Amino acid sequence: MAGVIVEVSSRKFGVPFECPCCGAAPEVDVRVVSRTSGKALAFSYCRRCVAHVSAWESAGVASAAVMLLGILSAIVIAVAAKLWLGLVVFVAAATIAWWVRGARRAAATKVCGASCASPHLALEYRGWSGQASSFSFQSPTFAARFAEQNQSLLANMTPQLRKLLDGYRKARLAVPTPAVAAGVAPPPLTVKDWLARLETTEGTVARRVALGRALEMIAEAAPRRELIQTVARLELAPLLERLARVQSAAQKKSLLERAIADLGVDNIPDELEAVELQQLQARVAEL
Ligand SMILES: [Zn+2]
Ligand SMILES: [Zn+2]
Repeated sequence: MAGVIVEVSSRKFGVPFECPCCGAAPEVDVRVVSRTSGKALAFSYCRRCVAHVSAWESAGVASAAVMLLGILSAIVIAVAAKLWLGLVVFVAAATIAWWVRGARRAAATKVCGASCASPHLALEYRGWSGQASSFSFQSPTFAARFAEQNQSLLANMTPQLRKLLDGYRKARLAVPTPAVAAGVAPPPLTVKDWLARLETTEGTVARRVALGRALEMIAEAAPRRELIQTVARLELAPLLERLARVQSAAQKKSLLERAIADLGVDNIPDELEAVELQQLQARVAEL
C-alpha cells in the first residue's frame, strides 16, 4: 500500500515520540536510509516492530542467497552436463527462493501486533530535495501527528494529506480530550535529575527528546549548557572511541570530516549541532 507523503521545508523538524509502526512507546533507534541520497535519519521504534521489520528484511536476503546459489549451480550444470538440466535447476531454485521469501515474510507478519501499520519498515525517507525533506508513512495516525507537529513547515501538501488532517481534526473535536484529573503534580525535575536521565537514556532520538524537554524547563544559561554538553559527549563517544583505535592522521581526518558532513544533514537541534560541530572542528584542527 502506498504511504501518506508528508514534506517539510527544513532538514530540522519535530518527530512524534512514538513507534512509527504501532504507536507504542519507542525503545530503540532505527536508521532510515534515503534511497535517493543514501543519507540516513534516526527514528525511534518499539522492539517488537524492530523484530518484525528485521524478519521481513531478512526474507529478501535469504531468498536472494538461494537464487544466487541456484544460478551458479545452473550455469555449472548447463556447461558441464546438459543445458536443459541447467534450466531445470534454475527453475527449481527460483521456485524455492520464491517460497523461502513468502514463508519468511509470513513469519514476519505473524510477529506484528493488531496496531502495526506494516510488516516492513513503516516509513520511507525520500530524501532532501533542496527545498524539502520528504517522507512516506504507512501509518495514517503517525503521518497526521507528524504533519501536525510540523504544521508551519509543511510543504507540497498532497490532497491525501489534506483529507487525512481534516479527518483527524474532526475526530478530535468529536472526542474531546478528557480534562486532566486533579491531583498533586510531581515536583519538576532538577538539573541534576535531568542530567541523570540523559545519562541513562538509550538511543539518540530518545535522548534528544529528553534534552528538548529539559531545555523547556530550564532557563538559566549555565545548566542549559551543561545539559547540551552532556548530550554532545554521549553522542560523540562512539566516534571518539573509533578515532582512538585509528592510527593515521589521514584516517582520523576522514572520519571527522564524515561526521561533520553527517551533522549537516541530520535532524539535530541547533544548539546541540553547534556544540558538536565545534568539538569536531577542534579535533580536526589538532591533527
Ligand atoms: Zn511498534
Ligand atoms: Zn509494527
